[in-house]
Amino acid sequence: VIDLGQPEHAVITTCAYCGVGCGFKAEMKGDKVIRMTPWKDGKANRGHACVKGRFAWGYATHQDRILNPMIRKKITDPWQEVSWEEALNYAASEFRRIQDQHGRDAVGGITSSRCTNEETYLVQKLVRAAFGTNNVDTCARVCHSPTGYGLKMTLGESAGTQTFDSVMHTDVVIVIGANPSAAHPVFASRLKRRLRQGARLIVIDPRQTELVSSPHIQADYHLPLRPGTNTAILTAMAHVIVTENLVNESYVAERCDTAAFEEWRQFVSQPQNSPEAMAEICGVSADDIRGAARLYATGGNGSIYYGLGVTEHSQGSTTVMAIANLAMATGNVGREGVGVNPLRGQNNVQGSCDMGSFPHEFPGYRHVSDTSVRQQFEQAWGVPLQSEPGLRIPNMFEAALSGSFKGLYCQGEDIVQSDPNTQHVAAAMAAMECVVVQDLFLNETAKYAHVFLPGSSFLEKDGTFTNAERRISRVRKVMEPKAGMADWEVTCALARALGYPMSYDHPSQIMDEIARLTPTFTGVSYQRIQELGGSVQWPCNEQAPDGTPTMHIDQFVRGKGRFMLTQYVPTEERSSRKFPLLLTTGRILSQYNVGAQTRRTENVAWHAEDLLEIHPADAEDRGIRSGDKVSVKSRAGETVLRATVTERVQPGVVYTTFHFPESGANVVTTNNSDWATNCPEYKVTAVQIQRVTSD
Ligand code: SF4
Repeated sequence: VIDLGQPEHAVITTCAYCGVGCGFKAEMKGDKVIRMTPWKDGKANRGHACVKGRFAWGYATHQDRILNPMIRKKITDPWQEVSWEEALNYAASEFRRIQDQHGRDAVGGITSSRCTNEETYLVQKLVRAAFGTNNVDTCARVCHSPTGYGLKMTLGESAGTQTFDSVMHTDVVIVIGANPSAAHPVFASRLKRRLRQGARLIVIDPRQTELVSSPHIQADYHLPLRPGTNTAILTAMAHVIVTENLVNESYVAERCDTAAFEEWRQFVSQPQNSPEAMAEICGVSADDIRGAARLYATGGNGSIYYGLGVTEHSQGSTTVMAIANLAMATGNVGREGVGVNPLRGQNNVQGSCDMGSFPHEFPGYRHVSDTSVRQQFEQAWGVPLQSEPGLRIPNMFEAALSGSFKGLYCQGEDIVQSDPNTQHVAAAMAAMECVVVQDLFLNETAKYAHVFLPGSSFLEKDGTFTNAERRISRVRKVMEPKAGMADWEVTCALARALGYPMSYDHPSQIMDEIARLTPTFTGVSYQRIQELGGSVQWPCNEQAPDGTPTMHIDQFVRGKGRFMLTQYVPTEERSSRKFPLLLTTGRILSQYNVGAQTRRTENVAWHAEDLLEIHPADAEDRGIRSGDKVSVKSRAGETVLRATVTERVQPGVVYTTFHFPESGANVVTTNNSDWATNCPEYKVTAVQIQRVTSD
C-alpha cells in the first residue's frame, strides 16, 4: 500500500467510462491526483462508484501516453516527433491534396463517445464546415445507433425516457441484452436495491448474468434465448398481451396513433407470432414467454432496461421498436417507475449523438436535408453546407477499399480494435493516404496513421458529458493538458490550418453555440448547470428551464406514439455443421471496452485476458477443460482464447469479452449489421471451437 498523503484540494468532475456518468472528487496534492472519491451530491451516482472509476486517474499519468505530435509519410516509416504546428499543417495539406485530387467527399472524420459534447460538436463542425462534407460519424454507430432510430420512430426522441432514480418506483423490470452488474455497476446496485424491496424481474439474455441468480436476487423469469432472436421473443410477448386482453386500452386510445396500433394488433395476433410458434426459434419455453409477458403487463409499473445485446444485431432497430411497442401497449411510458431505458455503454454515447456526429443529422437530430435547419447552421458557421447525408463508418471502410475515400481524422476511437471484422477494417485503413489519429496512446488504429496528435485525458479538459439518462454533467480540468493542447483546441487548430476560422476562449463558449443552435439545449450553459447542482437533463429550454427528468409525460415528443411492425427476420449469420456454435460478447466489471484505459490502471491486476465461456456439454464434446487454449474460428477469421467451462452459457452458445487486443475477439466478428443503421452484429457469430493446448 502506498501512502499518498492527505489531499490539499479537490475538483468535482465526471467519470469518463460508462454511461452512468458518476460524479467524482479528484483529490489533489499539488498538481497530482492522489485519489478519486465518488461525489456524494452527484445525481447519477449519489455517492457511489465502481472499481473502474475509482482507479481511472491511473491511465492519465501512464508512461505509455504519447505527448508529442508525430508524422510519417508511410505507415511503414518510423514516427518522427514534430511541433504541433508542423503536424497540423501536414495533416491539413494532406487532406486538401486528397480533396483536390479525389474530390470533396474523399475525406471524413470519426469522433468518439468518450470525448466531451464540446469536442464532438467541434469535430462534426470541422468536417461539415472545413472539409465541406457530411462524412462524419461517431463510434455510437457501432453501439447504440439503433436506439436513436428505433426510439425516434416510435416515441419521437432518440433518448431514454427516465432518470436512474426512476427505478426505485418500478414494480416489474425487464432487463434485456444487458449485464448492468458488469457494465453499469452503479446503476445495477440501485436496481438491486429495488429488487430486494420486492420488485419483480425478467431477464432476457442468452447468458446467466449475475442478475438471474445471486445470493439476494432471483429473477422471476430468465429467458435464455438463442442469440439473434430478440425480435421474435418480444413479438411473442406482444402476442400474449394483445390476445389475452392485457393492453392498456385507454392509454393507447389517448396517447397513441390508433390506426398504427390496430395494424400492429393484427400483426402480433397472428398465430406465427404466438409464444408456441416462437418458442423453438428462441429456444425458450412458450410457458415462460407467456408468464413473463403477463407479469410485465399486469405487475404495476413496468420498466425496460436494455443494452448492446439488443442493439448490436441485424435487427437491432427492430428490437428497439419492439421494446417501445411493449411499453406503449401497457401504458408504461410517461411517469416515474416505467419507461424505455437504453443503458449506454460509453460515458458520452448519448452526447455524441445529440451533438450531430452523424452523417445525416445536425445537432439535435435534425436531418441535413431540412433546408431551414441547414440555413441556420450555414448562417452560424458562415459556409454553405451539404444537404446529402455522408458516409457511415462501415461505408467509409467500403469506400476506402474501392478507392474513393482516402483521408480520415479519427478522434479518440480505436476503430481497428473495436470495429467488427478486424482484417477488413485494417485493409481499409491501409488503403487510405492520410489517417490522422488523435488519442492518448499508440493504439491499434495508430498503426495505420500518418499523423498522430496527442489527446488529452478527461482530467485535462473542461466540458460536459451526457449520460444514459440525458444528464449533462460538467467535466472539470484537474490538471493542465500534458501535451500542451486540449482536444478541443487541437480540433480548432486543425480547422484553422485547413483555412476555416474556428476559435473559442473556453469550452463554455462552445456550449453556448450549441445552445443557440439546438432547440433541446437552449437553456443549457455552464452557469445554469452550476445553478442546478452540477447537472441538468435535456430537454432544457424555455418550456423546461430546470431540465426534464421524465420524458413524454402528457404526450409523446412525436405527438402520438407510433406502433411499428416488428417482423422477425433471422440473421444471415447461421450456425452450420462447420460452425456449429454461436459466439456472443460482453464485458467484465473491471475492464472498459477495448481496455486502452483500464489496462493502464490498477484494474489490470484483476483480469489479465479475455476468456471464452463454453458449456460443459460442448466442452466435453471437444475435449476442452478450463484453462485450455482454444481456437475460435468463424467465417471472418480466427483467434485463440483461453477457455473456461461454465453453465453460465447454454449449450450451443459461447461467450467472450473484448478488452484485450491480443485476444482479438473482433477478428472473428462479421460484417453483418443492423438493417436501418449499420450497427454491427457483434452479438451473433457462428464459430467452431477446437482445443489447441492445455496449460
Ligand atoms: Fe460510475 Fe460507470 Fe464510472 Fe463505474 S465506470 S464509476 S459506474 S460512470
